Amino acid sequence: LFPVFLHWFLSRSTAYITLPSILVAGPPGAGKTALITRLERRAPKPATTYTSQTTNIVELAVNEDGSSSYSDDLDASGAVAKKFLVIDTPGHGKLRGATLARLTTASSTASDTKLRAVVYMVDSAALAEDGGVAAAASYLYDILLALQKRMGAGNSSKAPPAIPVLVAANKADLFTALPAALIKTQLEAELSRIRTSRSKGLLSSGVGADDVDSANESDDWLGEYGSKAFSFAQMREFDIDVDVVAGNVVGGTDSGPGVDKWWRWIADKV
Ligand code: GDP
Repeated sequence: LFPVFLHWFLSRSTAYITLPSILVAGPPGAGKTALITRLERRAPKPATTYTSQTTNIVELAVNEDGSSSYSDDLDASGAVAKKFLVIDTPGHGKLRGATLARLTTASSTASDTKLRAVVYMVDSAALAEDGGVAAAASYLYDILLALQKRMGAGNSSKAPPAIPVLVAANKADLFTALPAALIKTQLEAELSRIRTSRSKGLLSSGVGADDVDSANESDDWLGEYGSKAFSFAQMREFDIDVDVVAGNVVGGTDSGPGVDKWWRWIADKV
């Protein structure tokens, strides 16, 4: 449904075809809707919001050199603004396939080439709970693998523009929230585990070891092929930068780092 909606949306208004976009993804409850709503409300003008049952698209702006705050009134200052879209995608398991397909296909349509970055939001407090890391890592694994495949897709010498990933460690205002450095290592450890179990799946899927197409196997291996432990740094081999940055949508800067660092990161990518 998401690609269908996006296609309908983009074809409906040619103005939007050229706008750079940021995809917000993550497990349900991470705070994606809260973030998009907050950025929209504090935006200089009430942002244009497009809502469907599953997808939320907000148009935002940053000044030309990317230094403005999300709460600056760019119209009042007479600044030349760069407009961009923030697209909140459904975190529900059943709807993830469409988002992933979007990332994998190195399609030549304007909407895809304008995708500038992915913000993967997690609940830093939920990560401290049983099964929290596993729940947050599985979708991240799929997203990173999709982006990695996209870089490798097609044999043309011209690789598509790299799409960086921000792991937005949300809800840093809660005292049970894990710090960003710990979230990074815990996600890396879980992504290593997922990688190991999926590669075993490949080998024990009924085909003899000799029949396993090693080219395909390395295609489905996240990060540095054959490495024991996964680290986000391995994604650089595919030109994909991954940053883990703590913040909070609720509570402002009194209770945590707020959203400013995320905004800076996004402004730098559009
Ligand atoms: P989504 O499913 O990812 O879109 O998550 P929502 O935006 O619906 O947020 C889920 C819940 O987390 C809501 O009750 C939000 O109010 C809450 N929430 C979002 N951001 C924060 C935050 O920074 N701190 C705290 N304490 N709660 C948050």
